[in-house]
Amino acid sequence: MFGGGIGGVVILLLYFLLGGNPSDLPKQSTPAPSEQRQVSQEETVLEDFLSVVLADTEDVWHEKFNAYGLDYAEPKMTLFNQTTQSGCGLAQSNMGPFYCPRDQIVYLDVSFYNELKNTFGAGGDFAFAYVLAHEIGHHVQNQLNIIGQIHPLRQQLPEAEYNKYSVAMELQADYFAGLFSYYVQEKGYLEQGDIDEAMNAASSIGDDRIQRMSGQEVNADSFTHGTSKQRKNAFDQGFKYHDLEHAMQFFAGLKYQPRFQTH
Ligand SMILES: [Zn+2]
Repeated sequence: MFGGGIGGVVILLLYFLLGGNPSDLPKQSTPAPSEQRQVSQEETVLEDFLSVVLADTEDVWHEKFNAYGLDYAEPKMTLFNQTTQSGCGLAQSNMGPFYCPRDQIVYLDVSFYNELKNTFGAGGDFAFAYVLAHEIGHHVQNQLNIIGQIHPLRQQLPEAEYNKYSVAMELQADYFAGLFSYYVQEKGYLEQGDIDEAMNAASSIGDDRIQRMSGQEVNADSFTHGTSKQRKNAFDQGFKYHDLEHAMQFFAGLKYQPRFQTH
């Protein structure tokens, strides 16, 4: 009756309604019980699409990390509707997609896709792939211990000063999304117009709508993500250079320079 993907998203949503912990979920879901929230076909398609994109990010980042003699630990992804518990506190729709460094899970609200399309005018499947690739970019920062080097500064620096590091982190995540896009294009996965969709999305979310989670607790404080022009440029740079060295350019001029850790 249902394919694996459909059953999966039904289980996930039901699980959240019951207040379960997403990290406890088995990877392969069993068929859903009969009483459940109706899941739209759009959500099912979205989940299937994002699962494919997530797998693509894993291919790309495994290869990239291997080239630097590093191991890439895969993140998890959780689609939720309205609200769910995350390792970083309560996740709500109005926070937008985010990555929680504590549990290494990307949280995406299913309504965000429509919002991206209707409110930000950034439609197209690859626009949403960019959003996921950006969040995976934060996971990459976590893996490279960049988050671990930057987050402590928040306690040490005045807010305005720390915001510069926050912007640098966001732009670097855009760079990593551009890097990812370069490799999927090289693999021949992209259609005409996909990169434009991603660039459009990068430049249309030039405010705090996609809030990055701090790893401490969820709060409504806005982050600055950089201007539209900066975000588009960061994506561009990632697509152009697709290496880790140029990914550090966003911290140029700042007092504290994090390093990605290789061995
Ligand atoms: Zn971000």
